[in-house]
Amino acid sequence: MTLPTPDTLAPGAALNVLRNVTTADGTTGDVAVVDGMISTALDDIAGPAGIDASGWMLLPPLADMHAHIDKAYTWEMAGRPAGSLEDAVACWQTFGARLTQADIAAHARRALTAALRAGVTAVRTHVNFHEGEDPLRGLRAVVALREEFAGLVDLQVVAMHGHLHDSDLVREAIAVGADLLGGAPHLSPDPAAEMDRTIALAEEAGIGVDLHTDETLNPASLDIVHLSRLTAAWPAERTRSAGHCVSLAVQPEDVLDDVLAAAAAAGLSIITNPLTNLYLQGWEHPVATPRAIPPLHAIRRVGVALAAGGDNVQDPFNPLGNGDMVDVAAALVIAGHLSPDEAWQVAAAGRSLLGLPTAEGAHGDVADMLLVRAGSIAEALAERAPDRVVVRDGRVVATRHLSTATVDIDTHVSKEISV
Ligand SMILES: [Zn+2]
Repeated sequence: MTLPTPDTLAPGAALNVLRNVTTADGTTGDVAVVDGMISTALDDIAGPAGIDASGWMLLPPLADMHAHIDKAYTWEMAGRPAGSLEDAVACWQTFGARLTQADIAAHARRALTAALRAGVTAVRTHVNFHEGEDPLRGLRAVVALREEFAGLVDLQVVAMHGHLHDSDLVREAIAVGADLLGGAPHLSPDPAAEMDRTIALAEEAGIGVDLHTDETLNPASLDIVHLSRLTAAWPAERTRSAGHCVSLAVQPEDVLDDVLAAAAAAGLSIITNPLTNLYLQGWEHPVATPRAIPPLHAIRRVGVALAAGGDNVQDPFNPLGNGDMVDVAAALVIAGHLSPDEAWQVAAAGRSLLGLPTAEGAHGDVADMLLVRAGSIAEALAERAPDRVVVRDGRVVATRHLSTATVDIDTHVSKEISV
């Protein structure tokens, strides 16, 4: 009896049994899906039926913990800008006023769809207070998408104000439906005061924060220390995340140790965004250009929760982002020196930051998974996993099949020989 293979699955299909599937720990065997949960109990797997997943891996679904879906796909219309973070911010401030709520919704929907097809089922997105009239139009667009994608992508929305936005407007943004409060204190003239204000507003609303933190190669910028101090007494379940943390990459080791110890004690999580930091940082260093990625091993070693984000999708901050966390994980290996297995863990770690149940393909885990055609995580990252099947609660929600290229190798080889 020939069993169907994962590449024949279409959205809507319910998984029952996967035969010969390899999990992240490298073991290969059969698993069943029972009531939306993974089972490795023999009774559940018995019988000849199922999907032949030989050559496929069952991996934890990916989580993009730092996105800007309200800005996605704007690089061309913004005039193809190039340059540093400051250049990108300036470009956005002159260009962003042109975007309507409908424009923002369309771009953000396209970005979420791309992410879902890639196997990203949890996204934390920052949403700017947009330039022009009605600065909360982007937030309203994205909050509506949170409902539209419910059951497909768990979307967490961060209201990202600037230091020029008054506190009443921030309160209004929270009332629109933001899950967390954001901001970029290092871009304000008085970062400590701006962080104090942000934390006070979050406490007033009873919500957590995810701040763009120290997104600079200037070692004097260590707002993460202030953030740790301000949130150390918060209840454990209230989110306090620091995004980017570029300046950690240029600290002396003794300073780094103290900073990370404070962050760990405060229950802070760090979100690294390697692609955008590689692109935006270091323009002033034409030689020996720094990588601008925080020290990932040191962060993990001290017990700070580390997750990752794709950050920008073809916008003034990165013309080449695509919403695919496999690309981000690959960058964590190449530029951040994590092992491929560690990189996948970090690229999926956002699930726990969002409070989602464990999904590693083990008995009792929720049957959320990303099936990729690969023999190992290293191969999946190296080849960018062209074939993927995205599963939630045991049901296929998206597929992607790109490995259809052909090469006329026989003709080529025979020509070579005949010469
Ligand atoms: Zn960002």
